This record gives sequence, C-alpha cells and structure tokens, in this order.
Amino acid sequence: MTANKSSIHSKVIILGSGPAGLTAAVYTARANLKPLLIHGPLPGGQLTTTTEVENFPGFEHGVMGPDLMMNMEKQAKRFGTEIKTDVILESSLKNRPFVLKGQSGTEYTCDVLIIATGASAKYLNIPGEKELMGYGVSTCATCDGAFFREKDIVVIGGGDSACEEASFLTRFGKKVYLIHRRDELRASKIMQDRVRSNPKIELMLSKIPVDIQGTKQGGVTGLNLKDTKTGENTLFKCDAVFLGIGHTPNTALFKDQIDMDENGYLATKPNSTYTNIPGVFACGDVQDHVFRQAITAAGSGCMSAIEAERWLEGQGEHWDLKALGG
Ligand code: NAP
Repeated sequence: MTANKSSIHSKVIILGSGPAGLTAAVYTARANLKPLLIHGPLPGGQLTTTTEVENFPGFEHGVMGPDLMMNMEKQAKRFGTEIKTDVILESSLKNRPFVLKGQSGTEYTCDVLIIATGASAKYLNIPGEKELMGYGVSTCATCDGAFFREKDIVVIGGGDSACEEASFLTRFGKKVYLIHRRDELRASKIMQDRVRSNPKIELMLSKIPVDIQGTKQGGVTGLNLKDTKTGENTLFKCDAVFLGIGHTPNTALFKDQIDMDENGYLATKPNSTYTNIPGVFACGDVQDHVFRQAITAAGSGCMSAIEAERWLEGQGEHWDLKALGG
C-alpha cells in the first residue's frame, strides 16, 4: 500500500466489513495481496446488531454476533489486512485504477475492488424497536426463529419477505401473526395462498405498529397497534417481533456504473462474483437477496477473493482490456 497525505493506493480494496468483506480479506491477505478493507458506517455489518448466532458452523454452542465479527476481523488483520474506517461518498469505476472518495477527505485508488457493502434491513422507526433488537426483535427469521419455540410470534409486512418469514416461523411458533398496514397484501398470489392456508398463521390487516413493549432482560412482551379503519389503539401481546418490511442494498454509490437488478442489488455473472466491470467483484448481501446468511456471504467473499486473485494474475504487467471479457 502506498500513501501520501490524502491519497492511498492499494492493489485490492474491499468495501464492507461483514462476513463477506472479512472473508475476502482473509483470503486476499493470505494470497499476499495486502488488501485494504474499508469499514462502512456499521463496522462488522448486520451481525453486530444480533445477539446469539446458532447457525454459523464451527460453534457448537453458538456465538455472539459481535464476537464472531470481531474474531473475523482479528483473523483478517493477522494475515496483513489493513483496516480503515471511512465512509465512501463517491466512486469512479470507469478507468483503472478505480477511485473512491472518503468522507475523511482521503482518495483511495485500487486495481481490484471487492464490494461487500451488504444490505440494510428496513426499520419501522418506532419506540422499542432498536432497543429490543436482538432481544425479541429481529430482521431475520432463519437466524432467530429457533429462539421462539412455542411462542407467539409477530411478523410485520405484507410483501413476499414477510409471507415467507411468517410461513417459516410456523415451524417454531405456537402461532404466527402477520400484521400488515393495509387491508390487502402486496405479496405474490402464491405466497399469499400459502399464508392464508396455513392454520398457524393469523392475518391482522389494517394495523400500524406504534411501539414495541418489553425489556432487554425479559424480551418482547407485546406491541401497540393502531387500527387504520377505526383509529383504535390496542396492546397486542406477543413474544417476538420479526420485521419483514424489506431490505435496501447499499449500492447507491455505484448507481449508473455497475449493472443492478430492478431492486438495486448488484448483478453478478452466474456462479461467480464478477460484475459487469472487469476488476470489480461483488459478494454477500449486496448481490444476494435470496439467502442473506452469514455463511453464504462468507462463501461468496471467498469466491470474490479467489476470482480477484486469478483475475490479477491474468493481467500480468499490463492491462489488456480485450482479454478481460469478464
Ligand atoms: P416489499 O415487496 O417492498 O414489501 C415490503 C412490505 O413491507 C410491504 O407490504 C410494505 O407495505 C411493508 N412496509 C414497508 N414499510 C413499512 C412500514 N414503515 N410500516 C409497515 N409496513 C411497511 O419487500 P420484500 O417483501 O422484501 O420483497 C422485495 C423483493 O424481493 C420483491 O420483489 C419480492 O417479490 C422479492 N422476494 C421474493 C421472494 C420469493 O419469491 N420467495 C421472497 C422475498 C422477496 P405496503 O404493501 O403497504 O407498501
């Protein structure tokens, strides 16, 4: 890595410090590529907002999300990953080296960019939600459903995600309440049919969550709901609240530069992490709206690192744009 006062060049820059970015860092560092990883506004990614993670292989008794991320970071550093905290405000990917401008005023340049900026779950922004995140409030049924066996579970939202999460959660919950703000669901017909025909799911329509009740010690105890038709406020008792109101991929920085799908997720070539720009790779939730798991993100981070290494090897001393093809 070379640096002067306000510019830093690194052969490989990794953006994002969730499981995808940190795994890419471990692999590229071990390949002696001396990566620079730039932490975004949420160092450690979404896992730092959870408590116990029971489904990451290698931890028989589970591991706390923040601990898992801290260990991944230490592992990445041990092999020589340089880590900086900065918020990248601008990117220019037309020519190499690629250029990233940070909030700190630093300009970063690189030959390979691995994008692992993740996706952010949407929040309701109501009292109790942030405070009880990881203590009965969750944004991931696959991650946290098993903590609520034989409990009353609420899922908020009316789209495919909410319906999918509600159906999945019936494996654990005594009953699952799907609460939606309008009187009709947005989800596809097949998902709606699945929800409506499941005897363990009760639909509660035209209800807006007002706040979530509970404590960190005792977990969630209920939520206040406002009926949009009658204006009535009621306290609804439950043990868990899953937010299923969608995710936003953190890709605004790459708009009009990297191909994206209609929801803003970065498009990658089949069975790879190549984007449409040679030398730019994308891994983890920023390009995956299907699995969204720490382990799948880590897996794709590994893919990006290996693909980046092979791609760099293929460049030799001179850039040969024709040969890149992607
Ligand atoms: P989505 O389609 O945008 O649905 C979000 C839902 O949350 C909507 O019902 C919305 O209500 C509700 N919502 C948003 N903000 C809210 C708020 N502040 N308070 C209360 N409710 C709120 O998101 P998604 O379900 O994550 O789906 C995203 C995309 O992925 C879609 O294209 C979907 O088809 C796809 N997807 C597919 C599958 C599958 O096929 N298996 C699974 C998951 C996702 P309104 O309806 O009133 O706007």
